[in-house]
Amino acid sequence: MDVDQNVRDVLDFGASAWLLNAGGIVSHYPSKLDHQHPSPWLKDRPSGDLIGDAVEAAHKAGLRFMARTDFSKLHRDQFERHPDWFYISPSGQRQIYNGLYSTCPSGPYYQEKSFETFGEILDRYPVDALFINWFLHPLRDYSGTRYGPCQCVFCRRRFAEFSGGMTLPTAENFANPAYPVWRRFA
Ligand SMILES: [Zn+2]
Repeated sequence: MDVDQNVRDVLDFGASAWLLNAGGIVSHYPSKLDHQHPSPWLKDRPSGDLIGDAVEAAHKAGLRFMARTDFSKLHRDQFERHPDWFYISPSGQRQIYNGLYSTCPSGPYYQEKSFETFGEILDRYPVDALFINWFLHPLRDYSGTRYGPCQCVFCRRRFAEFSGGMTLPTAENFANPAYPVWRRFA
């Protein structure tokens, strides 16, 4: 990515801020966190750091820089190390799309590890804003296939606490009194 060309394009468009992916599914900086996945193409930049280059170019041109993150999916290596971080359907299926595994917002990746990523980005770069993409329970994949509410151990525990002891619904069905409660939980 030519950061100076991107800055010119953002300015030509009449915008005052540039949103660029920083971390989550793929890190565009050399993250030291073991749950992050730095882009293999970072090594093709002299600096080895797209976010460092982009923030500097944006600020030089008077643009605000927004660091985008997305904690909704991870690669297979993380799934194998931390299966409890991931969505599991009522029939016990994982949600895998184009090789990426959907995580669960109730689990430790969203609830704890995302803050480590924000901390690392904020320690390294003078970004003007953080943007969190998705941040939803993954009820469907990008093809529109619906999987139902997650049944992971963290959803079970948190939903029971939230609802005063209800069992997680297994379908998006308002006939089940637990479902509208789950929608508020989710
Ligand atoms: Zn869950």
